[in-house]
Amino acid sequence: TCGICVEKCPFDAIEIINLPSELENDPVHRYGDNAFGLYGLPVPEPGSVTGILGPNGIGKSTAVKMLSGELTPNLGDHADEATWDAVLERFKGTELQNYIERVIEGEVEVARKPQYVDQIPKQFDGNTRELLERTDERGVLDSLVERLSIGPVMDQDIDSISGGELQRVALAATLARDADFYFLDEITPYLDIGQRMTAARLIRELADDGERSMMVVEHDLAILDLLADTLHVTYGEPGAYGVVTDPKSTRNGINEYLKGYLDNENMRIRPDSITFDEHAPREITRSQVLFEYPDIEKSYGDGEFSLSVDGGAVHESEVLGIVGPNGIGKSTMAKLFAGQLEPDEGELDFQLDIAYKPQYIEIDQPMRVDAFLSSIADDFGSSYWDTEIARPLQLNPIMEQSLTDLSGGERQRVAIAACLSEDADLYLLDEPSAHLDVEQRVQATTAIRRYAENHDATVMVIDHDIYMIDLLADRLMVFDGEPAVHGQASRPQGMRSGMNDFLGDLDITFRRDERTGRPRINKPGSQLDRQQKGDGEYYYSR
Ligand code: ADP
Ligand code: ADP
Ligand code: MG
Repeated sequence: TCGICVEKCPFDAIEIINLPSELENDPVHRYGDNAFGLYGLPVPEPGSVTGILGPNGIGKSTAVKMLSGELTPNLGDHADEATWDAVLERFKGTELQNYIERVIEGEVEVARKPQYVDQIPKQFDGNTRELLERTDERGVLDSLVERLSIGPVMDQDIDSISGGELQRVALAATLARDADFYFLDEITPYLDIGQRMTAARLIRELADDGERSMMVVEHDLAILDLLADTLHVTYGEPGAYGVVTDPKSTRNGINEYLKGYLDNENMRIRPDSITFDEHAPREITRSQVLFEYPDIEKSYGDGEFSLSVDGGAVHESEVLGIVGPNGIGKSTMAKLFAGQLEPDEGELDFQLDIAYKPQYIEIDQPMRVDAFLSSIADDFGSSYWDTEIARPLQLNPIMEQSLTDLSGGERQRVAIAACLSEDADLYLLDEPSAHLDVEQRVQATTAIRRYAENHDATVMVIDHDIYMIDLLADRLMVFDGEPAVHGQASRPQGMRSGMNDFLGDLDITFRRDERTGRPRINKPGSQLDRQQKGDGEYYYSR
């Protein structure tokens, strides 16, 4: 199924069942004949964080352009000159009326954090300090710089800092503005869990001022759940049409999204539901050891950074999750295992075919996606490959594009596909969730998990998305130490003890949603938080 119809596929159906009823009305905006149409608008609310949950290409930026007054909605009638009076008429009596009146009066000051922070260096010449001083309308720079740990790069040129640094600088630059409406298009890319929590806390504090409306698009569900007061789910067909639901409670919105069914809208958005287990997976004891490795040491340059890996064993057909803060040596270890780096001490001489997807993907040949993938996958084009790889990774629409023209998310999906398409003993994926929207993460997680099960394949996955790690991993490898100085990798351990080690370092506990068992971050200092810390149970409840 395409996920749109509940009971029958429209391709062979006489009657289309359950097409969104919104589509019978005029859209809020349509770009042109047969062009993208947006139905519904999210509602900014002073003193509140409004979340938006859904795939890319569904009209979020379009909606924000209207809410900032940059684009006058044409109410679907793109032949006529759009006017705000007509818009006001349409939204009279709704929660948006007041807000739209203020937009018309030019009273809404908007601060916006762009989705693709990588573009910032192309638009700004200068160092971090110059950029931040320019946006510091509230006089809060010192505190933002400290809390987001930007200090070390204050005098560095913007075009020389890393993705994670750029993301934190962009957050600081946006939150330092004195605005009525803040729109943050993704806050977590390139950040580790501790940094994601800090970003969420800063946004919450600004909302707690009471006057400002915060709107956040986010694909990390644990963070979105923590941060948003209310949630609009968006669905539809990327590039064709998008529907923004009325606000839901964050908890219900995420539960419905994971279930694949929106209750109030009576709308199926995905054929399958995603479910979490409340208990840790049983440790694999019966499976064979695929390979063992000794203690390993690796340092860079004159030892500015050093990594120690405790020797251990990886089992056949297990998925090993790898977690830890940024700059702690996770990618370094992946490169050691993949044979791209030599250890200083300890020998990695296993005779294994390893398929490796690096964190930073370099596939820049001027080659079409289909040509590239068919050169790797023996069964390229078979219905099996199509079902297992191409469809869940949404590759079919981009097969004819050149690798050089792909967006970050498209490149990531091609790289995951290329890795899984190799005939290997061990699959090593470094941050597969990066650049993927929430729906693509769900599909990629399912594809990797299913691939591992069907092929008895051994997979190692480094990621910061705790839901992805939970859904994928059988065991965990935990990194700790001091970022950029020293990293220490534990031997692979069970999920329960691994999560306790990892989250204990971060001082974060999770409770379970009563209805669905979905993990949710506890409020620090809440009764559950204190109780679980006392019991040493940071993640699993049974
Ligand atoms: P999102 O922010 O959810 O990723 P956007 O609002 O950026 O989505 O875009 C939604 C759709 O509208 C996309 O298919 C995009 O190609 C289309 N679109 C955006 N701007 C224009 C425009 N000025 N003219 C025509 N189509 C556009
Ligand atoms: P992670 O993947 O956990 O974020 P990395 O393994 O990428 O961490 O990096 C660990 C540390 O090593 C960081 O401080 C990083 O700047 C440094 N580093 C990574 N690659 C090199 C290199 N080729 N030369 C010198 N230092 C490096
Ligand atoms: Mg890394």
